[in-house]
Amino acid sequence: MKYYKYLLLIGVLVLVRCRSNVASVYDFPKPVDTHSQSIVMQDKRLYKADDVSADNRFDGARLNNFFQVDDQTFQVDIFPENTPINPSPWYSFKIWSDNPRQLDLILNYDSVPHRYQPWLSNNGIDWSMMDSTKIEMLSENKVKIHLQLARDTLWVSAQELVNSERVRTWCLDVSRHAAVHFDVVGKSLLGKDIYRLRIGEGIEQKKPTIIILSRQHPPEVTGYFAMQAFIDEILKDNPVSNAFREKYEVLVYPLMNPDGVDLGHWRHNAGGIDLNRDWAYYRQPETRTVANDIVKKLHKERSKVILGLDFHSTWYDIFYTNIPQTKSLTDFKDFWIYSVKESIQDSILERASEPLTPVSKSWFYEQFNAVGITYEIGDGTSRPYIKEKGETTAREMMKLLLYKD
Ligand SMILES: [Zn+2]
Repeated sequence: MKYYKYLLLIGVLVLVRCRSNVASVYDFPKPVDTHSQSIVMQDKRLYKADDVSADNRFDGARLNNFFQVDDQTFQVDIFPENTPINPSPWYSFKIWSDNPRQLDLILNYDSVPHRYQPWLSNNGIDWSMMDSTKIEMLSENKVKIHLQLARDTLWVSAQELVNSERVRTWCLDVSRHAAVHFDVVGKSLLGKDIYRLRIGEGIEQKKPTIIILSRQHPPEVTGYFAMQAFIDEILKDNPVSNAFREKYEVLVYPLMNPDGVDLGHWRHNAGGIDLNRDWAYYRQPETRTVANDIVKKLHKERSKVILGLDFHSTWYDIFYTNIPQTKSLTDFKDFWIYSVKESIQDSILERASEPLTPVSKSWFYEQFNAVGITYEIGDGTSRPYIKEKGETTAREMMKLLLYKD
């Protein structure tokens, strides 16, 4: 009998230990079905019409068709990976002409309104936003842009192209800093790497931890830029940043949806699902991998998540927050938003809601009783201002966390 009880105790201990290594499942009041849906893959090919070529054979491209309309006019069709889907028609393609020429190019999204003002590049790396005088709205779903083409490739993209290769390059670059460790923590549905940066100095045990997520939604590049500036500030050599890295740990998952990004998706992963509705049952490998990685790592280090920031883009800059207060860091977000506002001398929008849906900010609250914030940057927010905001929000967060006691 004694022997039996002993075995039972061991069993319970093993179960508790295993359970604390995986994220818990939640029944949110407003659940979302995140079982995989089929997606339509775009035909990857070189299109040719008259003396003009268009090409989508690169990671991050989105171009579903290209054809000539009349002597002066050509058209590209841009379609989503599946429906229903948010109206965020991402496009990215290369275009050139055998002979120097001007042309009008219609961007057609069928039934979805135009959203992104085009960016142009000669090398796929350095971008400038297209002059708005060269853009004409034909209807809500069709826009005509005026292009000057030559034999050299012109890149046309909804935002600057930041595909998985570019993110990896950035990760390698920041991981030259002594406080940064770069790891691959798992694979996406199509087998692409899911990256993690760990930032911290000294011992790894029992450190309050901040989680950073980015690119759950592929086109949301401006949120990614703010995240980069945020991390850059944490890695600077100054008294605040240096003290912060000693006392706190930061886990960064800079590319949550590598398949969606490289397939040029409007919003979903390769399972056809909005990953930021999957933080309850983790049915998609990307959310499951990252949620379990966070829980497992924190358990191993006996650390605690105190804050989760998930970087996104929308029509304008805004922070989405949770109404319920957490046990630790009470009032943090109010102080933080106030000090950011004072520092950058600009208004800061915030909208607080109850954690009712399986989005990451609800998950940070439910799983860790941590502050969860969706950090949104506008699609068209000026790039220098994004940098300033990313740096300022990081600096004010570090100051508050260092001097809160
Ligand atoms: Zn988003």
